[in-house]
Amino acid sequence: MRTLIALLTLSFALLAHAEDKLKVVTSFSILADITQQIAGDKLEVRNLVGADADAHVYQPSAEDAKAVFAADLIIANGLGFEPWLARLMASSEAPGTRIDASAGVLPLMLDEDGEKVPDPHAWQNLANAEIYVQNIAKALGQADPQNAAHYNAGRDAYLAQIRSLLVEARAGLGLLPPTQRNIVTSHDAFAYLGQAYGLKFVAPQGLSTADEPSAAEVAALIRQIRAEGIKAVFVENIRDPRLIQQIANEAGAKVGGTLYSDALASEGSASTYLGMFKHNLDTLLAALKP
Ligand code: ZN
Repeated sequence: MRTLIALLTLSFALLAHAEDKLKVVTSFSILADITQQIAGDKLEVRNLVGADADAHVYQPSAEDAKAVFAADLIIANGLGFEPWLARLMASSEAPGTRIDASAGVLPLMLDEDGEKVPDPHAWQNLANAEIYVQNIAKALGQADPQNAAHYNAGRDAYLAQIRSLLVEARAGLGLLPPTQRNIVTSHDAFAYLGQAYGLKFVAPQGLSTADEPSAAEVAALIRQIRAEGIKAVFVENIRDPRLIQQIANEAGAKVGGTLYSDALASEGSASTYLGMFKHNLDTLLAALKP
């Protein structure tokens, strides 16, 4: 009997503990991982757009609306990456606070159908990831002051890991000769990576993945690959690889592997943000080194 009471007390205590945890919704897999790396087990994190999934064309479910309604804090990327999120929050009358992890990032502007829009893929530059980490840790500390010191410690440990990968990225990519710095991917997701490390990315598809490229755009890209002597093109984990394979065949280039653009892998080394970045770095170097 005494054991039973002890067990009951323990399970009530655990239950109460779970109830107390800050409820956080993240909009996509990269933010879910960054948040978890900072916070450890102090949070209950529910993520919306999962591994290998495409946030540009995401359609929220009824379950997502419930999760957003129940959340204390909603962490989004911002810069136009989640065009569906404001509507989801409004329709579910979500009382929680939304923050944009990219706040304070200097956005690159891109031309999308004749209109200048911010490029949302800021996480592809590790220096921007540091800003994401600062913003998320600050928001967690404000929403859950009791655990602020824990979040700050998690932030500092994680920032140290980001900085060491940044040193590795600069050293590796810095060695590539100028002729090996042009890269083709499925959609315009890597401009921040290109800007930070001196690479030039081109893609048959623009900023968002919503529109399919025209035959004329594909033909122009094939001519560009031939003219610039681009050696390798890369498929993306969130996209059907067939178009890129076709472009590679017709242009006489090889497919250099898979790059993770807008989502993590569901398992393996690219299932964390830093693992994903390292995978992309190693894949690029393996294909581009002379
Ligand atoms: Zn994208």
